[in-house]
Amino acid sequence: MRIDIVSIFPDYLAALGLSLVGKARDAGLLDVRVHDLRKYATDKHRTVDDTPYGGGPGMVMMPEPWGAVLDDIRKTSTAAPLLIIPTPSGNRFDQPMAVELSSADHLVIACGRYEGIDARIAEHYAAREDWAGVREVSIGDYVLAGGEAAALVMVEAVARLIPGVLGNAESAADDSFSKVDGPALEGPVFTKPPTWRDLDVPDVLLSGDHGRIAAWRKEQAQRRTHERRPDLS
Ligand code: SAM
Repeated sequence: MRIDIVSIFPDYLAALGLSLVGKARDAGLLDVRVHDLRKYATDKHRTVDDTPYGGGPGMVMMPEPWGAVLDDIRKTSTAAPLLIIPTPSGNRFDQPMAVELSSADHLVIACGRYEGIDARIAEHYAAREDWAGVREVSIGDYVLAGGEAAALVMVEAVARLIPGVLGNAESAADDSFSKVDGPALEGPVFTKPPTWRDLDVPDVLLSGDHGRIAAWRKEQAQRRTHERRPDLS
């Protein structure tokens, strides 16, 4: 999979060279390219924002540099890319959306700042036949200063679902929000030592009885889901 990310703070995305995503890139499973939007500004101050039509506070990102960088990215792409625009007013990003996006060939993430990106960018690329559509996506009901943190969240959630990225030891099948007809949340997990600061690992996990262990885990997951996320019970 290829993912292009456009930002006025390309250094923000350096974390994508680390850990699981970094390894996936090194293994050739994921091709991540970061672009500096300011390189596509045309004035000497590298301006990418202007005052909002209709008045009001803040600044809005201008369509011209966005159009230029997105068209440039399209020229180097073999498959029609899906444009993702992080915004608090978008559809909520969740595990089913991560699963859906993990089968895409090419994602382009447009990281807004200020009051966001001129709405004609979403409208234009949604109408383009050489693009696979536009998704305006929110990572939660709060407001960030920019789309970069949202891009990091989405790329990590999507990357770990690409076949070959997770080893067997880290299978995604048992994760929270991933079971087909089990509880939504995963229950508590433990490792050695069996006693730490007077706290014991539950006996059942030391029993070697796989049937009892599976039943205990399911019950713990159900209880946790009921207590913490009754909306998902
Ligand atoms: N005026 C916008 C609104 O109220 O919907 C908020 C703009 S926010 C200060 C600047 C940028 O941060 C957005 O364009 C978007 O890229 C990003 N952002 C902020 N909150 C986000 C969220 N919950 N999910 C995804 N992106 C977010």
